[in-house]
Amino acid sequence: MSRSPFATSDEVDAVVVGTGAGGAPLLARLAAAGLSVVALEAGKALDPVRDFARDEEAQGFLFWNDERLSAGEDPVAFGRNNSGTGIGGSTLHYTAYMVRAQPADLRLKTDFGVAEDWPFPYEALEPYYDEVEATIGVSGPSPYPWGPARTPYPLKPLPLNGAAQLMQRGCDKLGIRTSPAANAALSGSYATDGTRFRPACHNCGFCQAGCATGAKGSADVTWLPMAAAAGAEIRPEAYVTGFERAPDGRITAVVYRTPRGDERQRCRNVFLCAGAIETPRILLLNGLANGSGQVGRNFMAHTGIQVWGQFDEFVRPFKGIPGGLISEDTHRPADADFAGGYLLQSIGVMPVTYASQVARGRRLWGKQLRAHMRGYNNTAGINILGDCLPYAHNFVELSDELDARGLPKPRVHFTMGENERRMTDHADKLMQRIWAAAGARDIWSFPRNAHIIGTARMGSDPDSSVVDPDGRAHDVPNLFVSDNSTFPSALGANPALTIMALALRTADRFLARGA
Ligand SMILES: Cc1cc2nc3c(=O)[nH]c(=O)nc-3n(C[C@H](O)[C@H](O)[C@H](O)COP(=O)(O)OP(=O)(O)OC[C@H]3O[C@@H](n4cnc5c(N)ncnc54)[C@H](O)[C@@H]3O)c2cc1C
Ligand code: SF4
Repeated sequence: MSRSPFATSDEVDAVVVGTGAGGAPLLARLAAAGLSVVALEAGKALDPVRDFARDEEAQGFLFWNDERLSAGEDPVAFGRNNSGTGIGGSTLHYTAYMVRAQPADLRLKTDFGVAEDWPFPYEALEPYYDEVEATIGVSGPSPYPWGPARTPYPLKPLPLNGAAQLMQRGCDKLGIRTSPAANAALSGSYATDGTRFRPACHNCGFCQAGCATGAKGSADVTWLPMAAAAGAEIRPEAYVTGFERAPDGRITAVVYRTPRGDERQRCRNVFLCAGAIETPRILLLNGLANGSGQVGRNFMAHTGIQVWGQFDEFVRPFKGIPGGLISEDTHRPADADFAGGYLLQSIGVMPVTYASQVARGRRLWGKQLRAHMRGYNNTAGINILGDCLPYAHNFVELSDELDARGLPKPRVHFTMGENERRMTDHADKLMQRIWAAAGARDIWSFPRNAHIIGTARMGSDPDSSVVDPDGRAHDVPNLFVSDNSTFPSALGANPALTIMALALRTADRFLARGA
């Protein structure tokens, strides 16, 4: 995947563990600064043209399918619901909604007295948001109706699919503002330095099953080619299990499993970017960076209730960009009885995914499920992306069950709090009204949670956080975390853009210290 391979006996400047939204931009930045960097990625190197099929079932290998145990009153679904693997991580199957957090998202404690404020304001992220959008090519409306004034998107918005058009109709009738969403699928062909020319999106709708054309800004066609062009080495099928350490506690090598056996890469620094479950799992397995007792704590999952309806007109929900329309009018609803807020977004859905939601949500099986699915082409959905507060009762731990590698499986405890229940209730009523106004029948709701967040919190206080505001572990001076696990609060926005922005910031802070 990359040139200039390093020997495992070379002491490289940095090892980056994981190549998703948090690892890939950071790898590109460190390599561009001239550092010797090796990325270790558990998943395979995939060739979208050769390996991606227009078949959602066949594409199941893009997901992190190792078993995770779910506990709590609202157990989170894993497998296809939450994270991916392969060179590019979860960005291989993300829907590519690229939503900026709003300044108020970063100060829930100040504004509502709950959760935690981020240790820096929105302005610290803003230049990095600009940079990410320009680098991977985000399509979106300019001006954007919500949030602070901002630089124009590099590309004009994408066309709206069937569900987006119906959501727009319902919202118009209720006086709710909508806008085409910002999305990392290209509305025109695009290239930036170090990336290959990428063609415009042709609206096939398969974003969550992997984009075969390279039109979607996943890490494998953006940050990682940039990193490789700058000299980074990217090793697939390299599953990190442990570390070697010097007497002063610094990490001196990363130990990983390959199809050929165990290997170790000597290094001066380590960046853990394995996602909000595998990152704390690796830390817990190695008893690392946990002086605060906060590793694995404060697990969050966005409140994500969906509302579905049937329409007289054809919707063909498999077609077009699935991440099409947005409203941020609900960012801080005037009648809210909860802290924080949510976004409204239209949904595109493949048939097998929809059938499984119907089976779980409406308990329909056999003949009844088949009868319902005859209306699939006339089905449209909206969902929310809502804040989730950090709670002590939601956490990741090591279970006593072992996986195929002989390592303890992670067990994830999740129970929604009163805040999430109130938000879900508020959003459910509003989305039911939107669908009724749009002309839907057989409207039904499917409460769910999405995205894995928290578990290695960033903060200034070493007693209540795992990493400092620069992403450096309080307890281990050459260990950094850059992924969804460092978020102190969940934000009422899809996470990937903020993860990428934060990754660039973490890399810059590290470089500014003299690496
Ligand atoms: C269906 C779906 C749709 C989504 N749509 C959107 C969207 O529209 N917008 C948005 O903002 N977000 C979306 N997301 C969420 C987004 O993709 C993730 O939040 C984001 O990619 C997480 O980034 P990360 O760096 O934390 O982890 P990941 O991107 O998951 O990367 C972690 C990487 O680490 C690797 N890894 C794990 N353990 C090890 C180990 N021990 N050794 C080596 N490597 C390891 C994994 O294989 C993986 O490649 C979606 C997610 C899903 C599931
Ligand atoms: S809809 Fe566009 S971005 Fe999505 S998979 Fe198809 S070509 Fe790629």
